[in-house]
Amino acid sequence: MSLYQEAADLILSSKHMLALTGAGISTESGIPDFRSNTGYYSKMDPMAALSRDTLLNNPRQFYREGFVILKDLQDKKPNEGHYALAQLEDLGYLKGIVTQNIDNLHTRAGSKTVYEVHGHTRTVHCLKCGKTLPFEDYRKKVLVDQEIPPKCPSCGGDLRPDVVMFGDMMPPAFEAAFAAAQNSDLMLVCGSSLVVAPVSYLPGMVKKLIIINKEETPYDYKADIVLHEAIGPALTKIVEAVNEKRSS
Ligand SMILES: [Zn+2]
Repeated sequence: MSLYQEAADLILSSKHMLALTGAGISTESGIPDFRSNTGYYSKMDPMAALSRDTLLNNPRQFYREGFVILKDLQDKKPNEGHYALAQLEDLGYLKGIVTQNIDNLHTRAGSKTVYEVHGHTRTVHCLKCGKTLPFEDYRKKVLVDQEIPPKCPSCGGDLRPDVVMFGDMMPPAFEAAFAAAQNSDLMLVCGSSLVVAPVSYLPGMVKKLIIINKEETPYDYKADIVLHEAIGPALTKIVEAVNEKRSS
């Protein structure tokens, strides 16, 4: 039996499966992992570029560096890995996705229960009055109108993206994700290196673990199945195995 078939057996016998996804599932959609010290991002420190402190005290640096990580995400498209997870939810096996990604690709692929614990890039809000605006309007203010920092059309306060930055509190989605993990008997980890806290604590809360990640993770030793390979093709093969076993 292949590891994909073994993963399918674990999924079919689970009562409450949760997925945990990280940058690795979206690199296949052309989104670089800004924590992996390669390419463009090797030239900056994301801890500084995407921080609350930089946004508030050095907006020029924020819009020169941190904003660059965010600005093109809404042009990206889900890949077969995102669609495979949406299908597992449709089939009734996957109860939710906890994601560290801010690229909106799970919701765009049709997943319904998504805990976006690092926020998302669909909207921004005003630091003064709390008004919410579409991310696209904010992007236009920065890139076309060159309004830095971009201002709230209602009150003139500074706008900020609805992503969780270094120095921010964790959002309510994290507590919901934590509660979902407590109810889960199987976690399917896809493309997360499992080193960024507090999300990295979640796999320790479930009994069974499937890990798909190109590199090793600190939880490999206690996982039931570990696949060190590309996320999209592996998830597609697992969903195929699930469908075969269901129809046999
Ligand atoms: Zn305002």
